[in-house]
Amino acid sequence: MELRAETADLALAEDFAIARMTRTASQVVRVEVEHDGLVGRGEAAPIYYRGETAASALAFLEDLAPEVEEGDPFALERIGAAVGREGREAAARAALDGALHDWVGRRLGVPVWRLLGLEPDAPPTSYTIGIDSPDGTRDRARRAGAFSALKVKVGGAEDLERLAAVREESGAAIRVDANEGWTLESARELLPSLVEIGVELIEQPFPAADMDSFRGLRELSQCPPIVVDEGCHDLRDVAAVAGYADAINVKLAKAGGPREAVRMIHAARALGLAVMIGCMVESQLAIAPAAHIASLADWVDLDGHLLLADEPFIGLRLEDGHVLPGDGPGLGVEAA
Ligand code: MG
Repeated sequence: MELRAETADLALAEDFAIARMTRTASQVVRVEVEHDGLVGRGEAAPIYYRGETAASALAFLEDLAPEVEEGDPFALERIGAAVGREGREAAARAALDGALHDWVGRRLGVPVWRLLGLEPDAPPTSYTIGIDSPDGTRDRARRAGAFSALKVKVGGAEDLERLAAVREESGAAIRVDANEGWTLESARELLPSLVEIGVELIEQPFPAADMDSFRGLRELSQCPPIVVDEGCHDLRDVAAVAGYADAINVKLAKAGGPREAVRMIHAARALGLAVMIGCMVESQLAIAPAAHIASLADWVDLDGHLLLADEPFIGLRLEDGHVLPGDGPGLGVEAA
């Protein structure tokens, strides 16, 4: 087996702001594995808030290439365990795991969802509304009319005005994501209005380490389900979440690929946690493996590719607000 890796820059169609930053582009790492005349491809966006970069992901893969290249590409567990033993560079591992699943699916002539015993359907995706002025937010909500759920990024000065504008403009389910930007005090003040607006869930309201605030918010009556994103990366983090929140946001770039993501989902179910499947700002090549397992999730947030100025890969379908895998073998995604 031959392993090749590279980095790529993806430009966003519009500025994208969340509580901690604004961005205009996303850097990703891409992997190709070639064996027996077939190529499998994968991609992931390094988790910047954990200190991963496209450059560090690439260096990690270059270091591990000789060991990976000796392996059998069907040995997904063994390769995953070998590259994951230090628990770092999750995006690099996710790109590799995606590429191996793509290769295996192509080799067997089946889509990854079938390989995993799943179905090619999923709940509708939410579409993300970044932090903006109330008028800008209203405009973004209006333009997102094709989606039945909106994820509104909050944690700015005008959260309530913006949410009210979204509610006026759209009948979609509203999910909020504060990206660690609230305090328990601010959440307490906002909660009655969030309930009135009918907010469906609250994602990562507080810093990941501030479990007391999570518990404090959860105790308040009528609090919507609380989802942990920045505080839950891989299987090792799932059990703790059951002690302070209601659900996890599983992202392949945090988990290290579709294989670990499926393990996280099963662990969450055993603990009574609900499951969102999410993504970073990535192309269809990175979103596809998540779409192949999205039938296992309660909530889907797979819109990263829809935020890009240009789409370097095609094959995923967007049907009636659902992001669905194609019928082709492997990840079912090809270069545009
Ligand atoms: Mg989030």
